[in-house]
Amino acid sequence: MDGFITLIQSQLFESIVLPTLYRLDLMSFDEEAFDGLYWIIVGVLQIGLTYALLRPLEAFFPLERWATRRATRVDILYTWLAKMGLLNLVFFVMLQPVFDRLKSALTMHGIPSLEPEAFWPDIAAHPLLLFLLYVVVLDFAGYWYHRWEHRLGIWWELHAVHHSQRDMSFWTEDRNHVLDAMLQAVFFSTIALGIGVSPGQYVFLMAWTNFLQNLQHANVRLVFPRWLAALTVSPAFHRRHHAIGYGHEGRQNGCNFGVLLPWWDMLFGTAAWDDAPEPTGIRDQLPTPLGCGRDYGSGFWSQQFAALDRIARRLKGARGWAYGRASLADEAHRAPGRSVAHLLNQPVGTQRNEGASDAR
Ligand SMILES: [Zn+2]
Ligand SMILES: [Zn+2]
Repeated sequence: MDGFITLIQSQLFESIVLPTLYRLDLMSFDEEAFDGLYWIIVGVLQIGLTYALLRPLEAFFPLERWATRRATRVDILYTWLAKMGLLNLVFFVMLQPVFDRLKSALTMHGIPSLEPEAFWPDIAAHPLLLFLLYVVVLDFAGYWYHRWEHRLGIWWELHAVHHSQRDMSFWTEDRNHVLDAMLQAVFFSTIALGIGVSPGQYVFLMAWTNFLQNLQHANVRLVFPRWLAALTVSPAFHRRHHAIGYGHEGRQNGCNFGVLLPWWDMLFGTAAWDDAPEPTGIRDQLPTPLGCGRDYGSGFWSQQFAALDRIARRLKGARGWAYGRASLADEAHRAPGRSVAHLLNQPVGTQRNEGASDAR
């Protein structure tokens, strides 16, 4: 596989990238362009593979039936931007020299590093175990990152871009505010470098996490056996996180924050195993009187700017730096933990028939 990627990489580099760099007088960036091209090809292959595996599942075993897939289009754009933007990798590579310097400074002063080898020297002889340990540590960090995205009002407004998709499909995974995506890239790169993850491992880890998250968002009737659902976050588990009335409104502002492992939700009391399908989205998107029909934007730019606008309003004092459960405009209609499906006359699995779907 690696040989195949390298072959495409050198062919594309010689036929397209190099002549372009030459024309633009940017030949000094040829090495960076060559390396970046490798990851762009990996991204394209990843999107292709994910599409080939998950799109048929959504077509043949859909959980929600939509009249049109128009609402998912913007998420496709997010996916391409995320994969081609190489944010995760850029920050990892950028921060690496900083961490190398930090590591030698710590060693010089006799301060032990945070790498697992410092606590358990023998683990280096068990690469698989070490890798699994990295996964667990990063996933633990991911759980808390996600929980705080829901907890802090301003941060929630960024994360709301992700949650405002009401026709959730496997493409939804990458639908994030650009600022949040950057913050995430810095956060995870920092932890990964801090515990000694190598660039190759990091890329593999990100690709694998990404694929599983695509699966978690897929609009597909896929029930994991109990043992598997307890081992890794299932589509039903994550769908409940997106469910109006449950995912970000219930006790402690929601449930099922886990990224790959549901263990942290089990440990910290935020796991909800009820997998009855519920409408997904944010309550204030619902038409009145259930919500206030808030518009989170339908295109990339409108969604990005709408989030900044909501943040500006919070900062102006409308909602303050509130520990907030989301932007529930009409408190009177809030009923955490209660199904809105029957109120919408929308048993999931049938076609949506409320006014808001007219535009789709
Ligand atoms: Zn969330
Ligand atoms: Zn999600």
